[in-house]
Amino acid sequence: MKLVFATHNDHKLKEVQQLLPDTIEILSLKDINCVEEIPETGDTLEENAKIKADYVTQTFGLDCFSDDTGLLVDALNGAPGVYSARYAGGQKSAPDNMEKLLSELKSATDRSAHFKTVVHLNLNGESYTFEGIVEGQITTEMHGEGGFGYDPIFKPNGYDNTFGELPSAVKNAISHRGRAIEKLVEFLKKKAQ
Ligand code: IMP
Repeated sequence: MKLVFATHNDHKLKEVQQLLPDTIEILSLKDINCVEEIPETGDTLEENAKIKADYVTQTFGLDCFSDDTGLLVDALNGAPGVYSARYAGGQKSAPDNMEKLLSELKSATDRSAHFKTVVHLNLNGESYTFEGIVEGQITTEMHGEGGFGYDPIFKPNGYDNTFGELPSAVKNAISHRGRAIEKLVEFLKKKAQ
């Protein structure tokens, strides 16, 4: 089975390929000569994941999956959510995004938040979605240099360290993306049997 992963991120691609049996081959957007940036114009993570997978399926006629992630902060009614990448502006700067979030939460007593990943899969004319969530707290300062995005200010529940401090193997085992991809992989393994 051949499947496109609608991403330009080689790191994500390798991570997912390693989790799949050899009978499932993952192709990147580069592999299918899709060089354009697919516009993420949806108002929800679900819509954006669907837009990306549908773009590939409709344009190239190929089975495809995509992912979309956001950080949802309870005290901010779910912001930055679908706008997580560009919370502090179109430059998509992780330090700027974290500074803005810490400033918004300066006087907040409830610092609970969760990351959510939605995976959308188009396979043989049917579509499926898989979701992964990790609950945690937004710290008052940045800790750690690992990971990316909001990792230095997100402490998963049950841990004393932020995603920026935890080893990547620990993060991948409990993260939103790890959990959503795990569900996708289990589904595909059954289909490939
Ligand atoms: P994407 O949908 O995977 O591109 O994620 C959108 C945005 O959410 C990223 O630009 C980051 O700001 C944030 N984000 C996604 N996943 C993570 C993560 O694992 N740790 C920290 N921030 C993340």
